[in-house]
Amino acid sequence: MPLHIETPLIQSRPLTVHCGRPVWLKMDALQPPGSFKIRGVGHACETYVRRGAQRLVSSSGGNAGLAVAYAGRSLGIPVTVVVPQTTSERARELLQLEEAEVIVHGASWQEANELAQSLVGPTDAFLHPFDDPLLWHGHATMIDEVAQSGLQPDAVVLSVGGGGLLSGVAEGLDRNGWGHVPIVAVETEGAASFHAAFKAGHAVQLDQINSIATSLGAKRVCDQAVHCAKERPMHSVVVSDASALSACERFLADHRVLVEPACGASLALGYENAPAIASFKTVLFIVCGGATATIDQIRQWSKAP
Ligand SMILES: *Cc1c(COP(=O)(O)O)cnc(C)c1O
Repeated sequence: MPLHIETPLIQSRPLTVHCGRPVWLKMDALQPPGSFKIRGVGHACETYVRRGAQRLVSSSGGNAGLAVAYAGRSLGIPVTVVVPQTTSERARELLQLEEAEVIVHGASWQEANELAQSLVGPTDAFLHPFDDPLLWHGHATMIDEVAQSGLQPDAVVLSVGGGGLLSGVAEGLDRNGWGHVPIVAVETEGAASFHAAFKAGHAVQLDQINSIATSLGAKRVCDQAVHCAKERPMHSVVVSDASALSACERFLADHRVLVEPACGASLALGYENAPAIASFKTVLFIVCGGATATIDQIRQWSKAP
């Protein structure tokens, strides 16, 4: 039994009416740890444990860390997550709820990650949040489920942080004979490391991240994401934080599910009936989810100038 669940695939009536064409949602926000990440992380953790790992180590205070903590508890393996001081109280609580050991260290993710790496002994496995073929292989299962349902999308809209989700969806499309189906890759302004790579033709390191969509905040995407952009039909779109936040509110009202702005970024293309999806008939949105934002925080961000 895999650690992820098969999620609902539903047609959004509000977005279908708004966009004037069929809009479908792959509801990975409903995964038990709150995001799609458990698909890849679960597969990677199971693989490492099968190879003999006795502890799982992560440096993510976000959804990747939550997925590792969930996987470890489910497999009966201890988990250590090193997070920087900037990690929200909410994220720490969620990690502790999954019974992970949480070590708070350093002012930024770089320092937390360095400590995490130094803790990895010969019987430990380190879980990267997006740059590992095992992750992509696990993420691809969401497209297997879509293919098994009989739905044929003309485009897939998804959010990009470090590019693990994009790499996994590309693998899923390819292995289901849908290599020709375009991916519309969405980021927020200030976290657009894929857009920079897409334009340059190679991975680019951003100086800083400046977006409230923290789950998209990878300064550099994995090389596999750049490779995908060259090998298959791909579009890169950047939206504002305000658009992502507004999409979170509207999605909550329409579908009664709270997602992070990282996911709202993708949904904004539907709520704004954006030109980037205008030429596709049936559009599939990956509702990647995210557990680290509260409705109070989303409303506070929306009020900030
Ligand atoms: C991790 C994450 C992303 C981005 O995924 P990558 O594999 O880093 O590109 C998007 N949305 C949510 C909610 C996430 O947790």
